[in-house]
Amino acid sequence: MSLAQPINAYICPKCGVGVVTIDRDEGVTPALIRCRGTPGCDGMARSCWYRPPKDAPAPVLEWYRPTEKEAKRKGSGLYQHFLQGGLFLRVIGDGPPPQPEPEAEPKKPLSAKTLRKRFEMLKAAGTAEVGTARWNRTWATRAERRARARLARYERP
Ligand SMILES: [Zn+2]
Repeated sequence: MSLAQPINAYICPKCGVGVVTIDRDEGVTPALIRCRGTPGCDGMARSCWYRPPKDAPAPVLEWYRPTEKEAKRKGSGLYQHFLQGGLFLRVIGDGPPPQPEPEAEPKKPLSAKTLRKRFEMLKAAGTAEVGTARWNRTWATRAERRARARLARYERP
């Protein structure tokens, strides 16, 4: 399926429970999967063809392209599916952690002076909230934080 809209849902007609999936890679996904919404249910959940219900929750399962070695280990049925461009399904978080993007330059932490300057600039521009959390952690004493909280209450429209 296309990654343009990677979110899909599979709804089980037997128990009525659906699961939301996301495509991590380009590839083929099946129209039917065994029910994943209700433990012990032997229904077959049907694809919503990448038009999940509007109020669908965040995906819990992901379709991914395995390595050939991994596909072979899963048995001949799934290996055939893999050879035809099929994606495999797993619970999000069960996969290996994402590889960090190689960074050209390691980011230097902002100096305290720069932070304060930025905060003053943001405050002047009327968007102090953007920097407040960081400023609070870095700079503010308790008294200052209390004063700011009071001010924020009055300033709120
Ligand atoms: Zn079911």
